Amino acid sequence: MIDKDEVSRLSVDVLSRLQGLVGDPYSYARAWKGRTGGKVMGFFCHYAPEEIIHAAGALPARITGENRVISESGAHLQSYCCSLARTGLDMALGGDLDFLDGTVFVHTCDTMQRLSDIWRLNAGYDVHLDVVLPGRLEGDSAWEYLCRELASFRERLGELVGPVDDGALRTSIALYNRNRALLADLYRLRRRDPGVLPSDKALMVVAASALMDKEEHNALLEELLGNIEARLSGAAPGGLPDRPQEEGVESRGQAEARPQAGEKVRLFGIGSVMDQWEFLAMVEDVGGTVIDDDFCTGHRYAGVMAPEYVDPIESIARRIWDGVPCPCKHVTTRDRAELLLERITGSGAEGVLFFQFKFCEPHAFDYPYVKKALDERGIPSLHLEIEQGSVSIPRLRTRVEALLETIRG
Ligand code: SF4
Repeated sequence: MIDKDEVSRLSVDVLSRLQGLVGDPYSYARAWKGRTGGKVMGFFCHYAPEEIIHAAGALPARITGENRVISESGAHLQSYCCSLARTGLDMALGGDLDFLDGTVFVHTCDTMQRLSDIWRLNAGYDVHLDVVLPGRLEGDSAWEYLCRELASFRERLGELVGPVDDGALRTSIALYNRNRALLADLYRLRRRDPGVLPSDKALMVVAASALMDKEEHNALLEELLGNIEARLSGAAPGGLPDRPQEEGVESRGQAEARPQAGEKVRLFGIGSVMDQWEFLAMVEDVGGTVIDDDFCTGHRYAGVMAPEYVDPIESIARRIWDGVPCPCKHVTTRDRAELLLERITGSGAEGVLFFQFKFCEPHAFDYPYVKKALDERGIPSLHLEIEQGSVSIPRLRTRVEALLETIRG
């Protein structure tokens, strides 16, 4: 029988591997390319149809910018563009993404749409593809358009990277769903006991999913979750939460989790890319923990399953259509604030951290109305704006401490 020390050691092994990966995000893609001879396709947004890229035999690798001082992209992008776009382009122009064979741009915000043109003209990769998603994710015409755009992407990718047949696509969809189910388990286990994994580590695990081969990530996740489950069942007999989540259903609406006495303060994070591990570690350090989130490198990346028993293009379209919409998308029939409130309440979060990039218009436009909904429910929140490359942890620490004091009363 496995003892608790052994369980901890196994978890540490998996975590240090994933931590190394997010610390040097593209070493994996480089090594994968050297090992397999396959193509690597970069992408920025969680709406990217990764399953189609995977089914074409390529590795989808997410570009999340980095903490760097801009040198080359300043000639192409104004300083009032978000640092994700500016540092991402800087990496491409500086040769740091030389392992990429191409890039897939999904139409989300205006910055990304314009970045796509600048990237195509200046970054110099062989393949450049756009997936122009509808701005409104509702209505018959938008649904038909979305399905046609995904089918067209499949054709264009097939010509430039490799053919995508239905069988391969179904296999990729199942593989990606397995990954989402495992990540949903990670969120569920943390809701039950946030102490099983601090939020900086948990969000690293999720972010690593978009950087590496899914089979390998699934294997690491299975090992990690097995270790956590073994630890939890030893510490708290009585079984684990049900798994996996229902197909095609966002893991919202779960039974409400209740914070235990002596637990860290549960917070809910809202923003786009979350790659500031030092910031999350600081939040843990001062007595908070991000228990659930709407980051596009977090829950929004993994939160929705693609149904497996429908046409594969329709399946991917459903995944894009059914999730909590990103602030770049317009859905009048499903109120984003209501959907977020449901998840905030279900996770037992007592406060909200808005963690946003400076100059990110979609999130800035979204903030007042989500904040108003939180205020009406008496949920305290803190709005933080950052730029990659100039994050001051001591300054943010004071503000996070103030939020925690407000919550504790
Ligand atoms: S949504 Fe915001 S953070 Fe993301 S690319 Fe657009 S402006 Fe930048």
